[in-house]
Amino acid sequence: MTTLTVETFKAMLRNALTNIKAREDEFSQLDAVIGDGDHGQAIVTALSVIVATAEKGTEFKTMLNDMGFDVMLQVSGSTSTLLGAFFLGMSDNAAGTELDATAVKAMFAGGLANVQKQTKAQKGDKTMMDSLIPAIDAMEACTSEDVKEVLTAGAVAAEAGALETVAMQANFGRARNYGERSVGHADSGAASWACMLSSFAQAI
Ligand SMILES: [Mg+2]
Repeated sequence: MTTLTVETFKAMLRNALTNIKAREDEFSQLDAVIGDGDHGQAIVTALSVIVATAEKGTEFKTMLNDMGFDVMLQVSGSTSTLLGAFFLGMSDNAAGTELDATAVKAMFAGGLANVQKQTKAQKGDKTMMDSLIPAIDAMEACTSEDVKEVLTAGAVAAEAGALETVAMQANFGRARNYGERSVGHADSGAASWACMLSSFAQAI
């Protein structure tokens, strides 16, 4: 596929919601190891708002902007804030109704850049950034003009990044206080964001 259309993007988002719903309990259990155990519910709630808003979209910039604002206004919490920032950043770097591989990469890179304004978490801190940063890097490095190949490169890197968090000790936010207890389980956010990014690639 040489271009990404608005309708295909909506299908990607719907697939992410379906797959994340199917793993909701798993994400909450991972969160319970070093947090309050609400991540599954938090990301399902946030993505539900995002998908509902996206369904009304007709072109990328406004659609992504509305998705970002709606989730931030309707859902409280860090999961919503980070997802909102991601889609708002994508909006800043997207235009029109069809995106080629270069435009898709720019859109996702814009998403990461805006998330980095919301969190200081770095790779290795055992957060969602451990799947998001490698995913965007891999998309950028992918030289294919095929949008599915670009998104698949991102998905593979995101899943690998999420897997790497299993061996990590939490180093960010309140989770830091759990120290060694955090080792041996994937970070819930890294796992859910990897699921979302994999679902995107899978849906094309
Ligand atoms: Mg939580």
